[in-house]
Amino acid sequence: MDCVHSVNTPALSPARLAMLTLAATTPGEPEIFASLQGEGASQGQPCTFIRLSRCNLACVWCDTAYTWRFDGDNRPHRDDLSFERGANQVAMSEEDAAAQILALGQTRLVITGGEPLLQGAALAKLAALLAPNVRIEIETNGTVAPHPALDAHVAQYNVSPKLAHSGNPEALALLPERLAQWAADPRAWFKFVIAEPSDIDEVLALTERYLVPRSRVYLMPEGRDAATIARRSRWLAALCLQHGFAYADRLHIHLYGDTRGT
Ligand code: SF4
Repeated sequence: MDCVHSVNTPALSPARLAMLTLAATTPGEPEIFASLQGEGASQGQPCTFIRLSRCNLACVWCDTAYTWRFDGDNRPHRDDLSFERGANQVAMSEEDAAAQILALGQTRLVITGGEPLLQGAALAKLAALLAPNVRIEIETNGTVAPHPALDAHVAQYNVSPKLAHSGNPEALALLPERLAQWAADPRAWFKFVIAEPSDIDEVLALTERYLVPRSRVYLMPEGRDAATIARRSRWLAALCLQHGFAYADRLHIHLYGDTRGT
């Protein structure tokens, strides 16, 4: 079982287990697109994104709730929207996904979600089809160990552990063994979503407990519109300067707004 919440776990047939389960931009259309990386250590880099469906957490401010909050899932979310699974998921073979990724002509691939590491075996197959011509970057909430065959192909992890304001229980969101392993992996960059100035206390405690080098830590304002990000950036920039963390903007929100496929 690759998902902590049974409500979020579809009954998968053996055939479907061999496929990727992707998010959809519109019904039937997999969310594979070229754009600029909007966040973190690779911000501004041209790349292709592939967005996987399903997540093992449930952040109250999640901006991709269409990847996990399907009808019948009543875990709290501030928009209180639920999504019809069939209209928001697409099953796709790794071969077809690789062909669509290569057709977009970028040499950098960002695998995002949802929580993509829930589909580690299928991603390992995809990565093998793309190697060595595509640099692979994975965005994760940091709770799932990478499949070893996938890990061998990954150049960079963007790890975003979820703080208390996400609404997830600490026992699900902050797993000591996983955090220690990410901290020890020089490919892993940490990105903490910050909603209030007091969130810095939790970041400081985590980085000290797990020996996370501050040079690999980004603080990013929570916000799904440019005005909220700008307002929070003013005090967050000062906190970054004070504590030696990098600031991460949300470039894609400024460029495109909060829309799928960007
Ligand atoms: S971990 Fe990411 S995809 Fe999952 S609920 Fe939180 S923000 Fe959304």
